[in-house]
Amino acid sequence: MFVRSRFPRRLAAAGVVVALSAGCSGGSGDGGSRDGCCATSSTSGSPTARGSVPEKLPLAGKVIVLDPGHQLGNRHFPLEIRRPVDAGGFKKQCNTTGAATNGGYPEATFTWQVAVATRNSLRELGARVVLTRSGNSDDLWGPCIDERGRVGNPGERGPAADLRLSIHADGVKVAGARGFHVIRPGVLEGWTDDIAKASRRLAVAVRDALVGAGFPASSYRGTDGIDVRTDLGTLNHSDVPTVMVELANLRSPADARVAESAKGRRQYAKALAEAIGSYLAR
Ligand SMILES: [Zn+2]
Repeated sequence: MFVRSRFPRRLAAAGVVVALSAGCSGGSGDGGSRDGCCATSSTSGSPTARGSVPEKLPLAGKVIVLDPGHQLGNRHFPLEIRRPVDAGGFKKQCNTTGAATNGGYPEATFTWQVAVATRNSLRELGARVVLTRSGNSDDLWGPCIDERGRVGNPGERGPAADLRLSIHADGVKVAGARGFHVIRPGVLEGWTDDIAKASRRLAVAVRDALVGAGFPASSYRGTDGIDVRTDLGTLNHSDVPTVMVELANLRSPADARVAESAKGRRQYAKALAEAIGSYLAR
């Protein structure tokens, strides 16, 4: 568990600026661009009492991209979603429909809700947050994984990010398969070789925060809650430190109970915001 009292001071000392984006940059699948993703928002430090010296918020100046996996309406746009796009020197389909709990609660809604809560926490700390999709709608699709993966890259539209976090949930139908896993980019020459090392540190920060918050690491994928992949377009297109987190296996009744609860989602968001703060403070 990260020590809240220590976290802000360390961030302030580092002069960290964070930008979060949710929903527009790749993942195992999220496509299109009809939802006009990449809505940005920013916050600055709170006004101070008259005469007092302004206190710099711990994440002031930081830009964070949060990428909530999959648009809710992807299933209604099969042609758009299946369109092949560059995933890092090879082709993959633009996006997928995402997973769901046995009760029908969609991954798209879960990731959107967690991303918004995370964004709000980061804003309170002074960060500027960019989401890769502007809403969660059955009438929208996308964006594609390549577009998601580029949000926040230097030279792209919008501010350059300090990091990008893609938020997903798994849907593995294997009895007893539960828990989160963080996916970091492996070294793909010419694509991720420049961000692999920093992304590894980000993966550890996210893993440690989730474990600290009491979430179990995956029982079925990765090692100690961390997996390494070079086949994900969202990660391969990034020029800033990035990881993708599969917060839960939605087909696990135990995980689904947490994901479907507002309290559970708040806990996920709190852990993710702490992870980002911890990473940027170093
Ligand atoms: Zn997903």
